[in-house]
Amino acid sequence: MTDTQVQSPAEEALTTAWLAALAQELDGARELREELHREPRVSGEEQDTTSRVTRAMGIEMVPVADTGGIGRIGPTTGPAIGLRGELDALPVREATEVTWASTTGAMHACGHDVHLAALTAVVRAAKQLELPYGLVPVLQPREEAYPSGGRDIVQEGMLEQFAIAHMIGAHVHPGVPVGSVATGSGFVNAAAGELDIHVSGRGGHGAYPHQGSDVATAVAQIVTGIPETLRRHSDPMDPALVSVGTIQVGSGASNVLPKEGRIFATIRTTSSTEGRRLAETIASFAEHQALAFGCVAELTHTEGEPALINDGPLVSAMDAVLEDLGLEHTEPMRSLGADDFSFFSEAVPSVMCFVGVEGNGVSLHDPTFLPNEDAIERVARTYIAGYLAGARTLKQSRHEAR
Ligand SMILES: [Zn+2]
Repeated sequence: MTDTQVQSPAEEALTTAWLAALAQELDGARELREELHREPRVSGEEQDTTSRVTRAMGIEMVPVADTGGIGRIGPTTGPAIGLRGELDALPVREATEVTWASTTGAMHACGHDVHLAALTAVVRAAKQLELPYGLVPVLQPREEAYPSGGRDIVQEGMLEQFAIAHMIGAHVHPGVPVGSVATGSGFVNAAAGELDIHVSGRGGHGAYPHQGSDVATAVAQIVTGIPETLRRHSDPMDPALVSVGTIQVGSGASNVLPKEGRIFATIRTTSSTEGRRLAETIASFAEHQALAFGCVAELTHTEGEPALINDGPLVSAMDAVLEDLGLEHTEPMRSLGADDFSFFSEAVPSVMCFVGVEGNGVSLHDPTFLPNEDAIERVARTYIAGYLAGARTLKQSRHEAR
């Protein structure tokens, strides 16, 4: 066992005091969660949510990424551990029957209301304690939409300004058993990007294809050829995918060969480097395929989130602390989904984890997704575990540096 897996007497005392203080905050957190749920704000419009949560936390916050906020408690100097709470709701019309349901056409259908209430309870409880390192609540806007709020916070230099050595993200998930938290070191979520393929040609009369060039057929061949291109060019042991979401070609006529077409697709890989390499391969395939039909194709690759990678030593420490806090760590949730927490994990050693909630067979983003109120305490304990794991790791690295 390494030092990061053993609880010190000081940490044991801190944990006991923190959990006792947290218990006093849970009623308030439940009320806050219902209030936030009733008054959701979508991506880019989270200002009211930031103000409400800041008031509830009772600490100074600096504005960040337009509509977010960032603050610090505990020691005012030295390294800190950042705890991220997402602010935004989704443009989903709520279909739950609770009295505090949203009626605005926006909904906290991803559990961010639970995360914010839990983070508020954790901070309020921690204010009464003597923390070994800074604790930085990061209220992040625009998790659900571009441009990414996580990216903006990193680019604004906030990690350096607040001396954040580690970031912790926790997300409710109905695919994880209740009472468990899915951590796992290494790859968690994909590097994501968008491919926009523009195909152009001479067009012509449908009855005389030999006198024109057929953009519609070129588009169709490119779309159906992408999966085979990927299969030939990517390592079968390293997942990669391209899904076409939109095809635009023609204007409704049956006998006119169109002059232009577009294909919009998402590309998911386990690293940004691999994403760039495969995008180039697909660009080359599209160009040559279009050429075979007398057309020209041009591909634009817009990179989105980098891959989300959990730090190994921090995960080991967190797994040990979760057990101390009465939660089980379980199998990692790995997928080619994307989360902009990856901008933090790219910058500093971090952990993104998934907290089990009862799902009733409903997925995140569903108009009836509504974790039960007990989820607040489990998410709060997970944030505390993340802070304590970060503290253990910092203490260990200082010890080794001596
Ligand atoms: Zn979410």
